[in-house]
Order: sequence, then structure tokens, then C-alpha cells
Amino acid sequence: MTVWVETDLCDACKLCIKACPYGAIELKGGSAYILERCTSCGACLEVCPKAAVLTDFKPRQIPDFSDRKGVWVFAEQRGGKLTRVSLELLGKAQELAGELGQEVSAVLLGHQISDLTATLVEYGADTVYCMDHEALKHYRSNAYTKLIEELVNQYQPNIFLLGATHIGRDLAPRVSRRIAVGLTADCTELSIDSKEGILLQIRPAFGGNVMATIANRYSRPQMATVRPGVMEMHKKPGKGNVIEYKAVLFENEIKTRVLKVVKEKKKGIDLSEANVIIAGGRGVGDANGFDILRELAEVMDGQVAGTRVTVEEGWIPPENQVGQTGRTVRPEIYIACGISGAVQHRAGMMNSRYIIAINTDSRAPIFQVADWGIVADLFDVVPEMTRQLKEAKEKTFGI
Ligand SMILES: Cc1cc2nc3c(=O)[nH]c(=O)nc-3n(C[C@H](O)[C@H](O)[C@H](O)COP(=O)(O)OP(=O)(O)OC[C@H]3O[C@@H](n4cnc5c(N)ncnc54)[C@H](O)[C@@H]3O)c2cc1C
Repeated sequence: MTVWVETDLCDACKLCIKACPYGAIELKGGSAYILERCTSCGACLEVCPKAAVLTDFKPRQIPDFSDRKGVWVFAEQRGGKLTRVSLELLGKAQELAGELGQEVSAVLLGHQISDLTATLVEYGADTVYCMDHEALKHYRSNAYTKLIEELVNQYQPNIFLLGATHIGRDLAPRVSRRIAVGLTADCTELSIDSKEGILLQIRPAFGGNVMATIANRYSRPQMATVRPGVMEMHKKPGKGNVIEYKAVLFENEIKTRVLKVVKEKKKGIDLSEANVIIAGGRGVGDANGFDILRELAEVMDGQVAGTRVTVEEGWIPPENQVGQTGRTVRPEIYIACGISGAVQHRAGMMNSRYIIAINTDSRAPIFQVADWGIVADLFDVVPEMTRQLKEAKEKTFGI
């Protein structure tokens, strides 16, 4: 694309010079002159009152997508058990579909999985596309990609969401490549733009320092993967349709074979399922400092977690890290002890139902997201909380 100035039209008002972010315009011979360092960003075109700045760039036409209907969710199951993120996505899909006046569909693949369709309907699917085939017993990239590509091409959805799980992260880019659309990975929020009716896909960028909003105007479906634990599940009364999609699949077109399934030994707890989390930060001091957090967690039937600092220091194991590069959690109660509340930590816990923060510094950013803030030393507060809770439990339950 080239940008140039029609000198006959230019009245040297200098608005283009002020608007140019690259300092690539100057006055020469009584009119604006474009220098070589112009990047063709177009800022000068918008401000010229005389339309003296011209370009050969033709704006891309936005295709008519009025026939693309429906918000789809990939209903990921493993060993016949639906992943929690699939139900969370159905919750979000109901909200998005409600705004667009469209329906929610779940895409379920596997073998002997038909009982799962009722759960998907219960959590908001108006339609479940179900593909049951022996070759789909275990997740295999080729097979899933092929069938989902066929389904999308046949039914032409508007939006397609997948969980940012190991499977979702493998499948989503393959499908998006096959159907030639963009994909926004690892979103933490989704909404509909009220003017254009397009999906706004929000995710942290530049190390979590900015939240980027990504929109796709030129192709459908609008595809995104979403982190587990960030959306809320919502049951929906009513009935749904189940469409049995005949999966035509031959073993020889699948590049992989599953020889043996080895279950990974569970490393500790699954924080994303915890109802109560007692989290510690640098303020805990050292690995032993976590003992008082463990005692509180035990009385509250909760789990212990921490910030990246505490993992890097080796005070807690990596699977207990909460935040942008750790786990996203959504417990009923999150007690942040000696945590400053950096944006990267908040990204993983700010959707907790109730947040209690204990910090000696009243200006700590954690207080911006806390429902209750205690400005005090955690070594005074935490043991006292444990003591009082134990006492209350003994009085109430005699234990
Ligand atoms: C790309 C990137 C990704 C990251 N990902 C993550 C992530 O996933 N998770 C994460 O947590 N961080 C992450 N971080 C690091 C993050 O930026 C912060 O450095 C980190 O969260 C700070 O941890 P902290 O709150 O434990 O420590 P600090 O920021 O040092 O805060 C310690 C707090 O403890 C308080 N305190 C001290 N003593 C006491 C006491 N006795 N009683 C009460 N309060 C006390 C202090 O007032 C202070 O507010 C990431 C950073 C980058 C650049």
C-alpha cells in the first residue's frame, strides 16, 4: 500500500504531521510530503480535512455472516467423564447465545458416551452433536480434527469454544487451520460487541501487563480456547435435541494408535476443584511458614496454594501455584496471606467467590480485589483464625 499527497489539494494545515506517529511527514514546497519511513498506517488519511492524502489501499469487505448461527462448545470427555471446563463453557455460551438470539450446541465425540448428552443439555446445550465410534475411544488428533472439520462445514456455526486443556490446545489449532479461520488461545473473558455482534476474545498479553481484546471480523466460526476455572457453570431447565452424527472413520486414516493408557499418578490436589484455598506469598517467609497455613486449611477443609515466588523458592510444589502461569482457581473462599496481589497472581484467583486478604501493607494491590481486607501480620491472624474456627467447630459438632 502506498500513501501520497495531492499537492494541489493540500493547504499545509499540518494536521497530518501531528497525526503521524512515525514523524514521516514534513512540509516541503508549501505542502505535506511523505518521507520514506512512512509505514502506511493510515493515520494521516483520517485527519486530512481536504482529502489531500491518498492511498491505493482498498478496505477489506466484511462478508455477510448472517447465515452463521449458533454458539458451539467442544464437550471434552476423558474415559466417559466430561471435563468441568466443558460445562463452564456451556454456561458462558448460554450468555453469548442469549445476546445474539442464537442457540447453544455441544459437540461430543467418543465411544459409548451417549449418557453424557443429558448432562450437556442440563448445563445449557440446546443441541448435542454426538459422534460415537469405537475409533474415538481415546483422543486422537487426526480423528477428532477430521470429524469436527466435517461437522463445522456442514452446520456452519458462528462461534466455537474449546477448553484450554491439553486436548483443547492440541485440537483447536488443528481445526482452525483446516477450516481456515483464526483462533484466540487461552482467553480469560468473552463478550459480544453490542454494535457489530462479534465475539470479543479477551486474554492477557505481554507477560500479563495488558489485557488484549481480539476480534475476528472476516471469517467464521470465531474460535477461542478458554482457561479452565474462569467461567461459571449454569444449569438450564428445558429439553435439548441430540443429533447422532454418523462418524465415517477408518483406522488407516488415523496416524496414531493407542497401545496402552498409563494413568499419571495424581500429583497432590487439584486446586481448580477446591472450595477453600489458603494461599501464601513471600510474606510467609519460608517453607516452614506454610505450616500455619496448612493448619488453617485443615480446619476449613481446604487446600494450600501459593504465588510464583513461593514456588521458585521451593516452599511449595509447582502444581500449587496460582496465577497466569499456574492454576486458575474459583473457590468459594480464597485467603491470601502475605501476597501483594500482582496482576499475574490476580489473573488466577480474582474470580473466587469471597477473597480475604491479610497483608501488613495497606496499599498492597490484593486489597483491590479482596472482599475483606485485614491489615496485619499473618503470623498473628492466621493462628488466631485457626484457633477460633477449631473452637467453633468443637462447640457445634463436638469434634
Ligand atoms: C510472565 C510472568 C508470569 C507470572 N506468573 C505468575 C503466576 O502465575 N503466579 C504468581 O503468583 N506470580 C506470577 N508472576 C510473578 C508476579 O509478578 C509477582 O512477582 C508475584 O506474584 C509476587 O508474589 P508475592 O505476592 O508472593 O510476593 P511480593 O510481591 O513480594 O509480596 C509479598 C507481600 O507480603 C506482604 N507481607 C510481608 N510480610 C508479611 C506478614 N508477616 N504478614 C502479612 N503480609 C506480609 C508484603 O507487604 C507484600 O505485599 C509472574 C510474573 C511474570 C513476569
